Amino acid sequence: MSGTSASAHPPERKAFLQIHFVVVGGGIAGLSAAVALCRVGHRVTLLERDEDFDQKPTTVRGIRMPPNMTKIFNHWGMRPVIDEIGTVSGQVIMSRIEDSRTLGKHVWNHEMLEEAGGEFIFLNYHELRQVLLRAAKDLGADIRTGSDVASITDDGRYAVLKNGERVHADVIVGATGRLGLIRDLLASDQEFDDSGKPRGLMLFDAVVPASKLRADPELATLLQEEFPQSTQWVWFGDNHCALSCHLSRDDDFAFYLYVPDDGKTPEARIRTAPSEVISAHAVNFEPRVQRLAAASSGTCVKLVTRDVLETWVHSSERLLGIGDAVHPFVPGSIQGPCMSLEDASVLAKLFSHLLEEAQIPSFLYAFEEIRRERTIKINNVDNQNVDFMTMPASEMATMRDNAMAATFKAGRNALDADEGDDASSQWTENREIFGYDAEDAANEWWQTWGLLRLRAKGAPQLAELGGIGGVAVARAEH
Ligand SMILES: Cc1cc2nc3c(=O)[nH]c(=O)nc-3n(C[C@H](O)[C@H](O)[C@H](O)COP(=O)(O)OP(=O)(O)OC[C@H]3O[C@@H](n4cnc5c(N)ncnc54)[C@H](O)[C@@H]3O)c2cc1C
Repeated sequence: MSGTSASAHPPERKAFLQIHFVVVGGGIAGLSAAVALCRVGHRVTLLERDEDFDQKPTTVRGIRMPPNMTKIFNHWGMRPVIDEIGTVSGQVIMSRIEDSRTLGKHVWNHEMLEEAGGEFIFLNYHELRQVLLRAAKDLGADIRTGSDVASITDDGRYAVLKNGERVHADVIVGATGRLGLIRDLLASDQEFDDSGKPRGLMLFDAVVPASKLRADPELATLLQEEFPQSTQWVWFGDNHCALSCHLSRDDDFAFYLYVPDDGKTPEARIRTAPSEVISAHAVNFEPRVQRLAAASSGTCVKLVTRDVLETWVHSSERLLGIGDAVHPFVPGSIQGPCMSLEDASVLAKLFSHLLEEAQIPSFLYAFEEIRRERTIKINNVDNQNVDFMTMPASEMATMRDNAMAATFKAGRNALDADEGDDASSQWTENREIFGYDAEDAANEWWQTWGLLRLRAKGAPQLAELGGIGGVAVARAEH
């Protein structure tokens, strides 16, 4: 596959002082941190518990990559390979789940999206992970699978594996996910109440081979193959919502179904969901949703909201949490994987300015400051989106449907309503979310605070280096 080699990545400013990062966890957060840190010249060892990256995950299937995520791949020079594995989203069609009555439609304005930095792209989680893995390896990261980290030493300098091996780091980046080691460690470090809030919903996360859709004339209409770009379908129902989209041109079609929680599955357990189980939840829906449910298989997970951690930096000031470990997004969220990429981008940009070891704690706290506010906001928006889509039958739900239907009838895009309309402010919010540039946020911190601190320390020559870049020096090996 082209576009993954190190040479495909545009040159990046290399850190003056290059250190050794140990990244714990090889999900989207850990792998993208490995890519980003290697790009700015640091040495990275990634420790992943699983024996390999070959298994398709049983949990996460599809990724709906928003423009703020595509933008990062653009910066990293990896967009060609993303285009190879994903499909660009052309439009969203929203209907009622019982009778397929169309409520609205939004055709993306591609010029505007590209102006914001990137397109909406759908792709398989597994393929995205493979792309990041190859890029990390190409850039020199040492990827160690079968490396289950049991603990981190109090000084934050060693990851201790289950087999007793100790792996030394200058900085440890913890990316072990929403219920993993790093979250537990950071939450206990700050006496954080980590009891989650159940949403009263569970999510079936499934895929259907696109060939099955093509073989069924009714389902084939969902592929909309007469259009060059992919269509996302959203069906609103009473405490229910279904979503589907084509993840790649000739492969999987994603199918998500939100239903009321039956209380049978604890958060930590992912239930396998064969087609008959998914179908049983779709009996009263329009025929295409019923047939999609009957053709798909996947998993079922209870939706629990967990708060963004208060402190992301361990008391040792050598260990930092990123990704779902510090800002868990509910399964099925659009922005969850994206926030992990933004984390990686900000972290690497900050550490591209590393001149001396004494800066490490301030960079870790700067990361927390930049990312915490952003992820709290995006997490809220993501949760509100789920509420909006799964609204119980009520006056409010009728108002939502009527407003959308009126916009549709007037021939307008669902998210392009008149000034002052709710939908319009929703689009303004989307613009702000999509337009965010993680690297700019890190640069702004550096220009405002990083350089100032160096100058205040009376180190003008270092500040000069920090401003204009310098000759990289690698730290002595431990
Ligand atoms: C059940 C479920 C379904 C989801 N569905 C979707 C979806 O459909 N679409 C979507 O976009 N997002 C989905 N998400 C969210 C998405 O996966 C994450 O928000 C995003 O990928 C960031 O994850 P992460 O890398 O921080 O953590 P994770 O993806 O959880 O990765 C953590 C990694 O760390 C490894 N690890 C854990 N503990 C250790 C240890 N002690 N030592 C070494 N390695 C360790 C794990 O094996 C894993 O590889 C889902 C999440 C869950 C939990």
